Amino acid sequence: MSPATNQAAKNSYLPVANPTTPYWRTDLHPLDSHRSTEDLPSQADVVIIGAGISGVSVAYHLSQAGDNLPSILLLEARQVCSGATGRNGGHAKVKTTSILKLLEKGQTEEVEAFVAFVGAHIDAYKDVVEREGLDCEFEVHRSYDVYANEKDAAALRKAWAECAGQPWTRSRQLIDADFAENVSSWPYKFVTQLLARAMERNPALNLQTETPVFDVEYVEKSEDGQPETIIRTSRGSVRAKKVVFATNAYTVGLLPQYKNVITPYKGTASHLAPSPDKGPVFPHLSHTYNLEFGLNDRETVDYLNPRPDGGIVVGGGKWLYEKDHDLWHDTVDDSTTIDAIAREKYFEGYMQRNFRGWEDIMGSTPDGFPHGGEVPGRKGQWVIGGFNGGGMTMSFLLGKGVAQMVRHDLPFEEIDPVIPRFFKSTNVRLAM
Ligand SMILES: Cc1cc2nc3c(=O)[nH]c(=O)nc-3n(C[C@H](O)[C@H](O)[C@H](O)COP(=O)(O)OP(=O)(O)OC[C@H]3O[C@@H](n4cnc5c(N)ncnc54)[C@H](O)[C@@H]3O)c2cc1C
Repeated sequence: MSPATNQAAKNSYLPVANPTTPYWRTDLHPLDSHRSTEDLPSQADVVIIGAGISGVSVAYHLSQAGDNLPSILLLEARQVCSGATGRNGGHAKVKTTSILKLLEKGQTEEVEAFVAFVGAHIDAYKDVVEREGLDCEFEVHRSYDVYANEKDAAALRKAWAECAGQPWTRSRQLIDADFAENVSSWPYKFVTQLLARAMERNPALNLQTETPVFDVEYVEKSEDGQPETIIRTSRGSVRAKKVVFATNAYTVGLLPQYKNVITPYKGTASHLAPSPDKGPVFPHLSHTYNLEFGLNDRETVDYLNPRPDGGIVVGGGKWLYEKDHDLWHDTVDDSTTIDAIAREKYFEGYMQRNFRGWEDIMGSTPDGFPHGGEVPGRKGQWVIGGFNGGGMTMSFLLGKGVAQMVRHDLPFEEIDPVIPRFFKSTNVRLAM
């Protein structure tokens, strides 16, 4: 039994050691279980906890060309990209419904900043994939939001007419269905190859997988009078002046002040595979989709992400199990599927095909936005997480912003202006 399993029994916010195997993690990268050195270093300029897209983005952006690249220790409880990033739907977009909900709450300014940020992500992914030559089945698609219920469609038509002329509507179109540009890529390949590039560029980037962090101690005045953090892992302790918590749904396990602020919850996705002898029985899809069924006025949304192998990754079905809170809310257990409810009764009949299902742990926040920046009241500790099921459109550039803060000791307000200011982690947001 690995340390993660033992400790998980004591600390319910540690990643479990025996998660279900997702479709994305079937062709593993050489860095998957890599340890750069046999032993942990006793200290590092920067320690990053978590090797999903957020942690790897911070590591990558800290390792850009320049003198005095920092020594970085990247600690990962399981394998590289074994959390939500290696287990998601691989879909990078913002649904029109999500935008309309923000507008209903009067958050017009937030909408424009948010849509600009997502658009910047699509450009940034395309740029980094091409610049770094990442072979990750990166594809830019158009994407459809499909409203299957006439009442929802009518409400959408009305809201759309009311929003005419608003900047966020420019890249979207109502075709009595609706579409927006999005990027659909294979996140596991993207993250592992990006990490490999960062390690090539910065020999002082030390990756240590299968090394769960059990707790951290903040020392306000260390021997040199400056704050530092002691990071205790399954393989010993490390001291660092700068620590980045890229632990998303698991953040509260290390930073208790995020209890009820970043709450782990479980979702499910499935790979509908073409049959080896007969090929797919479902039609080839050239776009990605969100399907809104509008059943009995409840929020019911699924997403479809077609794969180059002829299969489709499909996720959602939450309304089938959402009443049973214990199954999915405030849990980090991705070792079991939400079987009888979501899988057998739902995805199995979805397109009459065989499939493989897997679970994934996400982090929800009360206001629906991620937390980034310095942990309030802590010098030298930064957080990046709480992506509410949409991290592919937020984590990469937020990671770039956090890297700017860490490398140059900048406040949130002085980093890349494309990052929405309301993502900043503040005491007000911690008290929500
Ligand atoms: C079913 C499902 C489908 C999804 N589909 C989409 C989608 O289509 N599009 C989209 O944009 N988003 C989607 N998401 C959400 C998206 O996957 C996440 O928002 C994103 O991957 C978050 O990345 P991250 O790096 O912050 O977190 P993670 O990928 O979860 O990485 C955090 C890492 O920290 C490690 N860690 C945690 N605690 C510790 C510790 N104590 N010590 C050491 N390591 C630790 C974990 O092992 C993990 O590897 C989906 C989520 C689910 C559940």
